[in-house]
Formats: sequence, structure tokens, C-alpha cells
Amino acid sequence: MIEWFVESSRYLLSLPVTRILAVIADFGLITLLIYGLLYFLRGTRSANVLFGITTFLALAALLANLLELTVISALLSGLWPILGTAIIVIFQPEIRRFFAEAGGIFASQYYKNRNEASKDVISNVVTALESMATSKTGALIVFERNIGLEGLLKTSVRLDAKVDTLLLETIFFKNSPLHDCAVIIRGNKIVAAKAVLPLTPEDSMNPAKKLGTRHRAAIGITEETDAVAVAVSEETGVISAAYKGRLLRGYSGNELVSLLTDLLYQESAGNSEKKSYWRASLELLQWKKTGKGDEK
Ligand code: ATP
Ligand code: MG
Repeated sequence: MIEWFVESSRYLLSLPVTRILAVIADFGLITLLIYGLLYFLRGTRSANVLFGITTFLALAALLANLLELTVISALLSGLWPILGTAIIVIFQPEIRRFFAEAGGIFASQYYKNRNEASKDVISNVVTALESMATSKTGALIVFERNIGLEGLLKTSVRLDAKVDTLLLETIFFKNSPLHDCAVIIRGNKIVAAKAVLPLTPEDSMNPAKKLGTRHRAAIGITEETDAVAVAVSEETGVISAAYKGRLLRGYSGNELVSLLTDLLYQESAGNSEKKSYWRASLELLQWKKTGKGDEK
């Protein structure tokens, strides 16, 4: 190994400076690209997949080069075009979210926070969630942000009602014809009930993290869009929130108000002071490491 290192260093030093700079730039760009991708995907299942694929390929390429395994080298070089297609298939939700977010940023310049939820809306929703958590009433509420959820509205029951604690509790009341699936909130209005959301696949790799359909739907919609989803478990009464494909459990009312305020209420004056409560929540839960906080 040491010999190989010495040999490689000698070879590198024998190259002209421009060539060395080109190699460094090449490696630098690839590192930046992989870092950027991992940063975008951090915490999602796809990040692990990407990490696994790149580690495996890098190790295989290194070994093949070191041991001069020509057949494996040839196979690996033939793998890149296939890998391109595989990555598009594996990362389909992330790619969709990426382009939708990019489009959403431009669109939001025109619509200027049309989906901004006021503090009143947040407090009405959180009060309803707390009450439903106490009575163990299952609920799922999605806040639309920059990426429109119009496609989901087509198959749901359209509403045009001011967000109200009692109305939300009435919708999710067990015998209500509207209680199934999700409510969608756009700005200060409830715009739909009974909305069927895309489900994230079951985590067959980890049975401890097996989730029911309500929580998989909460994750699913946030994988494909920039929406925030909050859910109350019918089984445990636990309140969860999902954002960017990640679900955190065990929110208290106050924690949820802070989270939603951070993500939805973009008060122009206080914007610069905005701290990422989402990130703070993650840190908090990593510290807690109790059964209460459970990261997907
Ligand atoms: P809980 O902790 O409340 O039991 P869970 O995650 O275990 O939730 P299930 O027990 O499977 O999930 O919950 C079933 C409910 O999930 C359904 O009654 C329905 O309201 C909701 N649900 C199922 N599929 C979807 C979907 N595609 N989109 C939105 N909501 C859904
Ligand atoms: Mg269940």
C-alpha cells in the first residue's frame, strides 16, 4: 500500500503543473457535486442509497485499478450509463421536488407568499391537533407552500372555509364522512378534505420503523413537494410533523407552533431573525434519544 502511494505520488509529480491542476479541479468538482447531492438529500432514505452506491463503486474501482482487474474495470466503465438511468429512477421523488422547488422559488416572486399562514391559522390548527391528540382522533393536515397541490384537489372534496379549530375537529371526527385522509390548507383557508396523498414506500429494511399509511402519506407528500404535514396518531395520540421527506414524532403544542411559524409564517419584519426550528428540532430529538422522539 505504501509502495503504491509512493509510486502514485512520484507519477503525479512527474506530470506537468497544468495536468496536476486539472486533476485537482476534476476531483474537487466531483467532491463538490457529491457533497451537494448528499446535502440536498440529507436525512432521507435516498441519501443512504446514494452513499451505499458511491462507496461500493468507489471501492470496486479502486480495487480493480490496484489489482489491475481488467474485466471488472471494463464492466465498471460500462456501468456508468446504466447508473445514470438507475439514479433517475431511484431519486425520482427528490428530482421532482428539486425542480418543483426551483420553479416554486421563481413562482413565489410573482405570488408573493400567497400561501402564508397567519399566526391565527397556526394557533387554530395546533389547538385542534392538541384536542384530537387527547381524544386519540386520527388526523392529517397538509400546509401548501410554494409548490401547488392543485393536482390533489381534483380527487378530494373541495372546500373554501376559514381555518377554524372546531371545523377541523368536526372534519376528523370519527363518524364524519370527511374524516378519512388529509385536509389541505392554503394560506388562511381549508381548501380540501379527504385528499389522498402519495405514500412513501414501506421501510422493509427496518421493521422497527414500520409506519402505517397515515404517516407514510405524511412523508410521501413532503418528499414530492415543499409542503409541511402534521398528523395525529389514532393509535397513540402522538403528534408528528413531516417536512422534506422526514418525519419527527412526539411534538408538544408549543414545539409545533414554533415549527409551523418558522416554516409558514414569513413575517417580513422578523425574517432575518428566523432560525430553523426544524433543524433545532432535529438537534433536540437527537439529544433526547427517548422513545418519544423517533426519526424516520
Ligand atoms: P395511526 O397511528 O393513526 O393508526 P397509521 O400511520 O398507523 O396511523 P393507518 O392506521 O394505516 O396509519 O391509518 C389509516 C388512515 O390513514 C386511513 O383511515 C386514512 O385516513 C389515512 N390514509 C390512508 N392512506 C392515505 C393516503 N394515501 N393519503 C392520506 N391519508 C391516508
Ligand atoms: Mg395504524
